[in-house]
Amino acid sequence: MKSWLSIEPNSDFTLDNIPFGIGNIPGSGPRICSRIGDAIIDLEAFARLGYFDDLGLKDSVFAQPVLNSFIALGKSITCKVRKRIQECFSAVNQGGHDFPVLHEIALHKASVIEMLMPLQVGNYTDFYSSIEHATNVGIMFRDPANALLPNWRHIPVAYHGRASSIVVSETEIHRPKGQIKPADADTPLFGPTMQLDFELETAFVIGRETRLGESISALNAEEYIFGMVLFNDLSARDFQSWEYVPLGPFLSKNFASVISPWVVTLDALEHYRVPGPVQEPEVLDYLKTKGDLNYDINLEVLIQPDGKPEFAVCRSNFRYLYWNMSQQLAHHTVNGCNMRVGDLCASGTISGSGPGSYGSMLELSWRGTKPVILPDGSERKFINDADTIIMRGYCQKNNVRVGFGEVKTKILPAL
Ligand code: CA
Repeated sequence: MKSWLSIEPNSDFTLDNIPFGIGNIPGSGPRICSRIGDAIIDLEAFARLGYFDDLGLKDSVFAQPVLNSFIALGKSITCKVRKRIQECFSAVNQGGHDFPVLHEIALHKASVIEMLMPLQVGNYTDFYSSIEHATNVGIMFRDPANALLPNWRHIPVAYHGRASSIVVSETEIHRPKGQIKPADADTPLFGPTMQLDFELETAFVIGRETRLGESISALNAEEYIFGMVLFNDLSARDFQSWEYVPLGPFLSKNFASVISPWVVTLDALEHYRVPGPVQEPEVLDYLKTKGDLNYDINLEVLIQPDGKPEFAVCRSNFRYLYWNMSQQLAHHTVNGCNMRVGDLCASGTISGSGPGSYGSMLELSWRGTKPVILPDGSERKFINDADTIIMRGYCQKNNVRVGFGEVKTKILPAL
């Protein structure tokens, strides 16, 4: 699909994408927006120009500080909005627009628009669905001979995380403080984490509510998923190894997780479906799925020391995940746990099989034993103060690209 707007060759925001986010429009405030190339479309202004009149959607639908109420309209509506934007900006439909008015009122340069937290996240669940990551962590934290716990190939393992500290890209995060127990000490000490880490993840956004007691079938679970974002699940490894027994991570994870500002719809990802890994042993019936439910999303993590160029430390892919999103959602609700629009379910760290594809510093530096060397000669076992962590993700097939943009987080010294 070609647009009459000019789009840079490697843009994540092609006409095939049309993601949704919240832009802080100068003079207007937070608005639901979309993006094509470097143009941000203020959908409230777009609606005021009458482009959604025949869909029965007034401008007030888009004058919202978060996407939740828009998503709650359901895919039957949101798909039409996405299609209408594609039609309007398609090169084959150049006629009929008042271009000066459209540019003046509804289009903004991406570089001048602050992107805000796109969702009110009520609930956040973090899965643990990469077999490579779970194996690596099991080897390092427990027992190399039995790295995967007996439940792992039967249950999409997860824990409930903290929703209040999920923030949008560009939010700066102070190094957290907590309890650390060095291996050679008898008692813990208190101080800033010495092992601050990222976790390369994606998260899916719940698009349809369920009632308490209701379960979502793995066979139609994607109907309940609106779209996806990149997700940097910041972690403090020294807190984690001391606190996680017996109830799992707490302060090592809940100080901040950072998401990309654009929610990419499942519709936009449709062309990038791929089969997932073979699951052995066979899963229980409620976790059985049909068709290709993984997606070929290239993922990378870069570290940018203060004032220096960025450097890629990890390249991975969403397709490596052992458990797919439908299985995660079916498992999450099989006991009757209800879902709300805007809830986030994160994938867990997405590692590949080779060392360059590990999705955390814990694995890349193998718990600090193999430092990563940056181009300036400095080394990283974990993340330093003033480092910026950048994650990017995109799909590309037959020269058609759909991407997530980036999620960017600068780490500041402890307060
Ligand atoms: Ca995580």
